[in-house]
Amino acid sequence: MPELPEVETIVRDLARLLPGRTIKGVEVLRPDLIEGDTPDGFAGKLRGRKIRSVVRRAKNIVMDLGGDRLLVNLGMTGRLLVARTGDEDATHLGARLALDRGRELRYHDVRRFGRLWTLTDGAWTAWDGELGVEPLSDDFTVDWLRGAAARSRVAVKTWLMDQARVVGVGNIYASEGLFRAGVDPRRPADTLSEAELARVRDGVRQVLAEAIEHRGTTFLDYRDARGEEGAFAARLKVYDREGQPCDVCGGTVQRLVQGGRSTFFCPSCQH
Ligand SMILES: [Zn+2]
Repeated sequence: MPELPEVETIVRDLARLLPGRTIKGVEVLRPDLIEGDTPDGFAGKLRGRKIRSVVRRAKNIVMDLGGDRLLVNLGMTGRLLVARTGDEDATHLGARLALDRGRELRYHDVRRFGRLWTLTDGAWTAWDGELGVEPLSDDFTVDWLRGAAARSRVAVKTWLMDQARVVGVGNIYASEGLFRAGVDPRRPADTLSEAELARVRDGVRQVLAEAIEHRGTTFLDYRDARGEEGAFAARLKVYDREGQPCDVCGGTVQRLVQGGRSTFFCPSCQH
């Protein structure tokens, strides 16, 4: 499932390609991917609009159409690609937006857990206000972490993955961030000291920044806006490395299950 670095990589590509392009036509091949609208209603809101900017909010791709927004969530297996008009790769094609200058924006999705929807300017402000803190923003401070963690007995790894608190950190980057912080993923959030919270903050931010630098992690499905795989999987320290030696201490990386998800960690390095 794409997490923050994968969505950020796609957004940075799209931000170079899309601003200034006008949506000339909309074709919806999979109506179940469109949230809160009929295919015709959705198309009517997009047709003729110019894309002003492309940004990320949590794990969503947000295109500003001059007030109203077009949002895309990739779900498990979604891909958003800019292609030349006439490229006939229709594999799992869910929707196609024809753009000017011979380009089109294509949404492909094998499992169809992704979604596309529009928000008016006012609805966008309300929606944005309900999301958790962006971990790469200036709001993700040790003070904020201390206040939020003080009220929670939840294991810190599960705590970090709750999108109502911190957005965009999923299973891969929660495991990796806690390894870098040297903090045991099983620790209840309210038991972490200020120094440990500072290490968690830095560990999460560093691993996200490095993953963006390497264009995300591809295990199977994730592709960037050019259809290429990310290169960060080779740099993971613990995730998906059960039984392998820890890069730091030479001990054995272990796996456990928390909240139904695999957690990878080094018992020697993380306390
Ligand atoms: Zn270790």
